[in-house]
Amino acid sequence: MDLKLSDEDVAFRDTVRRFIDDKLPADIRDKVENGLNLEKEDFVTWQKILHTQGWVAPNWPKELGGTGWTPIQRFIFDEEMARGSTPPIIPFGLGMVGPVIIAFGSDEQKAQYLPRILATDDWWCQGYSEPGSGSDLASLKTKAVADGDDYIVTGAKTWTTMAQWADMMFCLVRTSDEGKRQDGISFIVFDMKSDGVTVKPIQTFDGGFEVNEVFLDEVRVPQANRIGEENKGWTYAKFLLSHERTGIAAVGRSKKQIERLKAIACAERSGTGTLMEDRRFREKVAAVEIDTLALESVVLKVISEEAAGRPPGPESSILKIKGTEIQQDITELLVEAVGYYAAPYVPEALDAGWNEAPVGPKHAAPLAPHYFNWRKASIYGGTNEIQKNIIAKMMLGL
Ligand SMILES: Cc1cc2nc3c(=O)[nH]c(=O)nc-3n(C[C@H](O)[C@H](O)[C@H](O)COP(=O)(O)OP(=O)(O)OC[C@H]3O[C@@H](n4cnc5c(N)ncnc54)[C@H](O)[C@@H]3O)c2cc1C
Repeated sequence: MDLKLSDEDVAFRDTVRRFIDDKLPADIRDKVENGLNLEKEDFVTWQKILHTQGWVAPNWPKELGGTGWTPIQRFIFDEEMARGSTPPIIPFGLGMVGPVIIAFGSDEQKAQYLPRILATDDWWCQGYSEPGSGSDLASLKTKAVADGDDYIVTGAKTWTTMAQWADMMFCLVRTSDEGKRQDGISFIVFDMKSDGVTVKPIQTFDGGFEVNEVFLDEVRVPQANRIGEENKGWTYAKFLLSHERTGIAAVGRSKKQIERLKAIACAERSGTGTLMEDRRFREKVAAVEIDTLALESVVLKVISEEAAGRPPGPESSILKIKGTEIQQDITELLVEAVGYYAAPYVPEALDAGWNEAPVGPKHAAPLAPHYFNWRKASIYGGTNEIQKNIIAKMMLGL
């Protein structure tokens, strides 16, 4: 394994750093840095800036709009995005359905969808989970019944992230009840403005609205919108989930959050000094930082393997578990750092431009909402318990 940055990689890192410093709009950087709410516009604006530069889809083949970067350059790019406080790239189009269409879509589908995904002209959402079908996804019941050249789709999806902003959904549907459950699933895409689609928000623990129920009532979807073969959707879904897990380690974002934690701990008083001078607190910060650096070396090892032509397998599950545990530990320490000033619930304080006097230090307002919100990380993308099952089965042979 070769983990040292070459001179070229260092030059690449400096180019990316300069680009982000120059091009990221100040108001968006400010929101990310201060943990404030991001609007759809903020994500779209940043993705369009990256698209103009040709950098929005590092994981796509170069001839279809990718960058042709090495795995280590992709890692550097992610690190620099986090370091520069950019919004994350929203994965549903570029990281999920895009690669599925590239791998399994027809030429017409590639021509129809890929340019719009690259340009973030469409916002996509992921319709996998259903009430009663989460970890056991193959039990999904949303039905697609053939009717001439169309399917009539009826059922309910849930936890659909940002469906309230979505133009398009990629969706797993049941097209057969014969044989194994996995063999009766198809992968379709449709317009969220289709008749029969209803989006209902679900309020999360932190008071925010990012997930939804989506009801599908006899939605007419052309069969031409099916990606790949009928009843082969499970294969495509699994392909997509492996993409989802690799990015979930989010080491760069955790490193940035640790910096923020240290800055807050230096600003907070404890006894006669600062909280950062408190030995017990410092030890906790050190522990999470060591975990993050250890995870980073595992990520680099996976990247180094990938560069040598060995794509990640069940190692992705380790990255997911440890990455999300670290993200959650950091949110916990941030709350601890401000003590009872984390308690007041002032949702308006998370909106840019809110200018009332904060309760306690300004940095305290988003910390408890983030703590509660990040409980999600060990659930989405396949729960951490399910990841442990994968490790037990695939790596330990149990
Ligand atoms: C914030 C958020 C955003 C999401 N966004 C999306 C989205 O955009 N699109 C989408 O399709 N889905 C989305 N999901 C859904 C997510 O994928 C599911 O919540 C997840 O797969 C778990 O399913 P479930 O909620 O039905 O829980 P269940 O599967 O009912 O699990 C309940 C508990 O039992 C445990 N468990 C279940 N089976 C086993 C087992 N075999 N062994 C050990 N433990 C087990 C689980 O780990 C969990 O702790 C999102 C979820 C969250 C929280």
